Amino acid sequence: MAYELNVAHLYGDLLNTYGDNGNLLALGYYAKQMGVELKTTVISLDDKFDPSDWDIVFFGGGQDFEQSIVSKDIQNKKEDLTSYIEDGGPMLAICGGYQLLGHYYIGADGEKIKGISALDHYTLSQDNNRFIGDIVIKNPDSGDEYHGFENHNGMTFLGEGEKPLGIVEEGHGNNDKDNSEGVVYKNVYGSYFHGPILTRNGNLAKKILLTALKRKYPDADLSKQEALEIQPTF
Ligand code: GLN
Repeated sequence: MAYELNVAHLYGDLLNTYGDNGNLLALGYYAKQMGVELKTTVISLDDKFDPSDWDIVFFGGGQDFEQSIVSKDIQNKKEDLTSYIEDGGPMLAICGGYQLLGHYYIGADGEKIKGISALDHYTLSQDNNRFIGDIVIKNPDSGDEYHGFENHNGMTFLGEGEKPLGIVEEGHGNNDKDNSEGVVYKNVYGSYFHGPILTRNGNLAKKILLTALKRKYPDADLSKQEALEIQPTF
């Protein structure tokens, strides 16, 4: 393969609800078509996250119990993750992972689960309710449409410098109040989509891969990769 990208799978052994790991399979599938080999490593409890080692970070969703374990450990990686993000490192964070990039998440039993405040959102919990079902969103800047399935108790509210991944056309999204779903901040994409998001939305997989390639190989001619046609799978 002409290119190689190193993927950090944050807490991949703890956070993997609803088959979120499938995002890595989808990423690998599109990477292969782009002549890219992906090397994935799980970075978990007590491991060091060195921002210079990674080209893509994937951070999946989890139950409140696992999230509270991760919440404690991730404080030790807070500075390095923040500098990776601020430096334009590409990242996909789903549900629990998305929540932990923000300030905090109030779990279903009222426990405050601390995030790393790398992004400016916060997440409250709903009383005895979850947002579950099919969801369709559209990004107002790119016109990209994303289809998926959401299942979360948390209600996330975006903050300074954060844009939604899309405006809700069908479903609940971040909080069922402001029509937003997910987040885009620099090259970080956060979302409540399970299913997993990249299997049904190859357009997003392509975007993440291209961003990582341009960052790692700034002088490469990526016109072939840019031209890769993604067939919608929804
Ligand atoms: N525990 C979190 C919530 O319910 C995240 C769940 C998930 O990752 N699916 O909002």
